[in-house]
Formats: sequence, structure tokens, C-alpha cells
Amino acid sequence: MKKIIALVMLCMWAFAYAKPLVTVSIPPQKFFVHKIAGDSLDINVLLPKNVDEHNFEFKPNVMKELEKSDIYFTIGLEFEKVWIPRFKQNYKNLLIVETQSNITLAESEHHHDHEHHDHEHDHHAHHEHDHDHHDHDHDSKDPHIWLDPILVKQQAQNIAHALMDKYPEHKNLYQKNLESFQKELDMLDTKIQEKLKGIKNNKFIVYHPSWGYFAKRYGLIQIPIELEGKEPKLKDLTKIIDEAKKNNIKIIFVQPGFSQKSAEAIAKECGAKVVQIDHLSDEWESELLKSVENIHLSLQ
Ligand code: ZN
Repeated sequence: MKKIIALVMLCMWAFAYAKPLVTVSIPPQKFFVHKIAGDSLDINVLLPKNVDEHNFEFKPNVMKELEKSDIYFTIGLEFEKVWIPRFKQNYKNLLIVETQSNITLAESEHHHDHEHHDHEHDHHAHHEHDHDHHDHDHDSKDPHIWLDPILVKQQAQNIAHALMDKYPEHKNLYQKNLESFQKELDMLDTKIQEKLKGIKNNKFIVYHPSWGYFAKRYGLIQIPIELEGKEPKLKDLTKIIDEAKKNNIKIIFVQPGFSQKSAEAIAKECGAKVVQIDHLSDEWESELLKSVENIHLSLQ
């Protein structure tokens, strides 16, 4: 009898405290949604931990959670193009909201400094070459908008407005949280500017080119190792090493889920430090500050 009462109580508790569920593409969005919604929602993340966000497979449990979600917040990654039509087809009640809405995307940073292997002997083949590279599923826009605090202000606004529409009972709370998050982002921006003031070198090497918007915001230049989503060839590696030596580059960022081999090879050649940075952390702010601290220390 006691057991039954306990079970009934548990069910009542679960019913009373079940929170609405929303889904996001990547962990940094979980940080943003949580800033706005506080504990009023549960948040499901599609991207598994420590994977390449441009090439991964879903875990089955996140799909079950997506099915139970009220809203899915996209970020603009390649996999969304493939999956959104299926989500729309299968989950009729799922509201799809673009976190990236009203953000002007920059062109992707491909290895401008590196010659392309196939046509380098043929100076007239540029157009053909461009065609070749659009054959495979390759977006020419840079999707990494979540590493620039000022762009995150717009993303926060997009998230907040969708949440206010969907859950009008929390409208005041979400409005208030949005305003304080915007202030925090401005303060973070100022803090980063202060930290990077007076650095003597503005170049850093990064395995996967996710720092484009951040670099542009703060007058830095990222030099990517990865070439069109692949490990660089020895020849390309040699070029990066030369560039690193010439520019006295002292830091190389590597990201979990991506190869570290070439970063270590470059580091060894030019005496740079390899620093692991998770550009997809759900501890978004502290991870960003950690990156800034590392840049600050190594670009003196
Ligand atoms: Zn990426």
C-alpha cells in the first residue's frame, strides 16, 4: 500500500513539474536558451559531445527528445539542410526557429593561401575548379556565428522572441532575462577588447576554422590547418609551418572531435603551443574567455 501511495505521489510530482522541452542544434545554443528561459524549460541538444559539427551521426535518444519538443532552434549547419525537411514531415507540431535569422553570413574561410592540388599546373582552370568544389555538399558561407558575443546578441533576441510567442505566460521573465543577457554580452565584448588591447601579433593557427567572426570582431586573423574539411597534405602543412615561422605564431588551437596530428607537427616545427579549445562547449562564456586568455598570453 505504501508503495502504491509513493508511486501515485511520484506521478503527481512528475506531472506538476514536467517542463516543456525544446531542442537546439549545438551546445552553445543550450547556454543561450538557458540564459533566456532559466529553469522554465528542458533543453535537448542534437550534436553529441566531441564530434565534428560538420560530419557526425545522431544518437537515437536525441531524436526521441526532439519528437517531444515544442521548438527546434537551428543554427545553420549543413546537417540541418538534410534533416529539417524530415523533421517537418515527421514531427508536425514541432516549431522550427532559426537562431541565425537576421545575421549576415560571411564567406567561408577556405585556405586562400594554399594552392589547390588538382589545377595548380593549369592557370586557366579556375572556373572549372570552382565547379568541382561545389559538387560535394559544401556550403560557402561560414556558419560559426556563435563565437562572436555581438552576433550572439542577435541570436539571443531571436531565441527570446520565439520563446515569448510560444510561452506567453513567461513573457515578462524572458524579456527581463533577455535584457540582462544582452548587458552581459556587451560587458563580455568590452572585456575581450580590453584583454586583447596591445597584443603584438594578431595571427593564430586553428585546426578547424571556427573563429572567423570572432577574429574579425577583434582584429585577429585565424590561419586554418584543415583544408576543406580534410587533413592537409604534407605540402600544405609545410606552407603553414613557413607562414607560422615567418609571422612568429605562438599558438595553435585544436578542437575536440578533430585531428590533432598536424597541429602537433606544426607546433614542433615552430615552437608554438597547442591549446585545446572546445568551440562547441555548453560552458560557452567561460570557454570563450579561456580562448581569449590564451590568445592574450601567446600574442604578447
Ligand atoms: Zn565548424
